[in-house]
Amino acid sequence: MIRKIKKKVFSFEFDNYGSIVYLIDEGKEKIIIDTSSSENKELLQESLIEANINPEDITIIILTHNHWDHTGNIDLFKNAKIYGDKKDFPEDYEDIDTLNFSEIEVIKTPGHTKGSFCILYDKILFSGDVLFHRGYVGRTDFPESSPKDMGKSLEKIGKLDFDFLCPGH
Ligand SMILES: [Zn+2]
Repeated sequence: MIRKIKKKVFSFEFDNYGSIVYLIDEGKEKIIIDTSSSENKELLQESLIEANINPEDITIIILTHNHWDHTGNIDLFKNAKIYGDKKDFPEDYEDIDTLNFSEIEVIKTPGHTKGSFCILYDKILFSGDVLFHRGYVGRTDFPESSPKDMGKSLEKIGKLDFDFLCPGH
């Protein structure tokens, strides 16, 4: 299902398990936040066609953290530079700290994983698996989790100024 969140921001949701995929369409720069699970590959492809988006026009992929249900369809976007936190992706991809896009603010929010972060864009908070709707928070029972860090991260998010929450699920 494709939804328009705000001018230039769209979400793609699927019935199969996997993260929501978000698109920020800044004209020349087209940014995807998380890519869902590979089970949703075909549906994601179809949705992009429906939204008139050519996967080859995507210039940036941002991975909020390294879980398979967010990273499954990177291969669809052949021309995109992929960004993640080095704590989650020590060997692969560009360091999110080097993302140079003035409208996007990266907020480090470890806890669910060591390298989890949120993205603030146009008063929309893309919260990955840190914070969900109705105050639900991400799991912290993975080996890569830290409940203590999660507490601090949620406190940090509480101080941010945003109008929309766009969680990973
Ligand atoms: Zn996750």
